[in-house]
Amino acid sequence: MKIIDTPSPNFDDRGRAIDMIVLHYTGMTSGKAALDRLRDEETNVSAHYLVEENGDVYRLVDEGNRAWHAGLSSWQGDTETNARSIGIEIVNPGHEFGYRDFPEAQVGAVIDLVADIRIRREISPALVLGHSDVAPRRKEDPGEKFPWGLLAANGHCITPFNGEGNANISYEDALAALSDIGYDAPAGDHAAALLAFQRRFSPQALGQGFNGVTKAALIYARDAKALVA
Ligand SMILES: [Zn+2]
Repeated sequence: MKIIDTPSPNFDDRGRAIDMIVLHYTGMTSGKAALDRLRDEETNVSAHYLVEENGDVYRLVDEGNRAWHAGLSSWQGDTETNARSIGIEIVNPGHEFGYRDFPEAQVGAVIDLVADIRIRREISPALVLGHSDVAPRRKEDPGEKFPWGLLAANGHCITPFNGEGNANISYEDALAALSDIGYDAPAGDHAAALLAFQRRFSPQALGQGFNGVTKAALIYARDAKALVA
């Protein structure tokens, strides 16, 4: 894989081992604008890699350093997302500027990049996540159009729910499953986490609350995670 080095000054020391990959979309009008922003020392944001729509891969921060991509976030109660993860920005205007399908060349490059990092660093497929998974109240990226199923076909993340099935578990059990999977979803303040879960695991049920498909997907995802953890 050809990687174009375009260093960013926005990083510091990690202080702990890498065990997670976080996928983002850039949410800006162009890849160039995103690359400029992630390399501007005034912004205090960065990522390790950026993948353009044509499949070009840019490296901004060395994997050994901590990039500043996740912000306030949490997974299974652990809030040090930047310290433990490698951040990959995928160029897409996002929900604010015209969310569109990720082109095939770009998806192929993301899969190759994730595969390389994950295998080299022995990262669990259960810890290949979206930004919205770790920051559901603030973020929607990479969003429901990201083809997690293609990434999962190569074993690099947990497969989304296939949409078959209709579970009738209690509200309490559904909420418990959401937390067990890793989401920050306290009772009464779980709506954002539920949307993030649906974007990632059951986009066909996005915004439909704890319906039968979503409940089935929650049970599925909790079991799938337990199998690979
Ligand atoms: Zn993001």
